[in-house]
Amino acid sequence: MRAYNFSAGPAILPEEVLQQAQAEFVDYQNTGMSIMEMSHRGKEYSAVHDETIANIKELLQIPEGYSVLFMTGGATAQFALAPMNLLGNGQIADYTNSGTWATKAIKEAKLIGEVNVVADCAKEIPTRVPTIEECQLTPDAAYLHLTSNETISGAQWKEFPKTEAPLVVDMSSDILSRPLNIEDFGLIYAGAQKNLGPAGITLVIIKDELAARCPDTVPQIFRYQTFIDNNSLFNTVPTFPVYMLCLVTRWLKANGGLEAMHALNQRKAAKLYNAIDATDFYSGTAIKACRSDMNVTWRIANEDLESVFIEEASKENLKTLKGHRSVGGVRASIYNAFPEAGVDALISFMKEFEARHG
Ligand SMILES: *Cc1c(COP(=O)(O)O)cnc(C)c1O
Repeated sequence: MRAYNFSAGPAILPEEVLQQAQAEFVDYQNTGMSIMEMSHRGKEYSAVHDETIANIKELLQIPEGYSVLFMTGGATAQFALAPMNLLGNGQIADYTNSGTWATKAIKEAKLIGEVNVVADCAKEIPTRVPTIEECQLTPDAAYLHLTSNETISGAQWKEFPKTEAPLVVDMSSDILSRPLNIEDFGLIYAGAQKNLGPAGITLVIIKDELAARCPDTVPQIFRYQTFIDNNSLFNTVPTFPVYMLCLVTRWLKANGGLEAMHALNQRKAAKLYNAIDATDFYSGTAIKACRSDMNVTWRIANEDLESVFIEEASKENLKTLKGHRSVGGVRASIYNAFPEAGVDALISFMKEFEARHG
């Protein structure tokens, strides 16, 4: 039996995708080889690679002048690579601090150059992301960095600001969960293991003209331009994670694309937040305007009951509901691949748990 897996990441994948991968795992399309045993420059893998890029361009309606790249080192590597490539000498990069992940991005950027933290609500409870109005933006900043969805606190940017400086956004936990207007962004990056596929690749979408900013002292492997020039094949790309991402993008297209996914994600999240708001027994962690559609976080009034809740839920096949070790509480990560039936099952369990312990 498949678990209702609420893990924040690595996270649940569509069952159909896993089955498809299983069916061709040992012998890929009658080649007598697994896709992961093949050259990253051969015919079969090349077709997968190029289809994945084309599917992402189609799903997000990415215009000319932007590139889709596959990199490694997770979003954590991007915390360093973005400033290495985009923050020149004598320039300032603006960063919003919305929580744990933004804090890490800021720490890395400070190793590279000058950083201005334009708003800081990282430690506020209830949790939230800043509003653009409260940001003290630097004139002529190299870029403005946001974390679109704070996976740990459960706070999400619902709309992206239109800014003079290019927007650089860590979308690790909500990319492909909703349509975007790509022209509003300079650089988007996301580790794959939340909402895209297995761990091992980072999806990067970059406005090509920004890549040219990179100083000559940056080694080639750390330059966006190198990945643009080589179709992400400068070195051996993690072929199997790209293949898995290819299957996920096909699944998204077959299920109505990002409009349909967004509607479904909003519906799943709203059901869960309604259940939390229906009683004082539970209380949401994030302020309502910033509640994440991906990572729903809450507390139980009697905090001693939280570990009981998580343990009993696990026995009901509702797995990995424990909040991040830094904040505690309960967290239900309900990414694209998380079935609505699992949300319904969790809500039933919440009601029943309250009836027994409330
Ligand atoms: C998980 C996560 C990261 C870190 O990703 P890695 O792939 O482990 O480097 C960064 N930012 C956000 C928002 C995340 O959810």
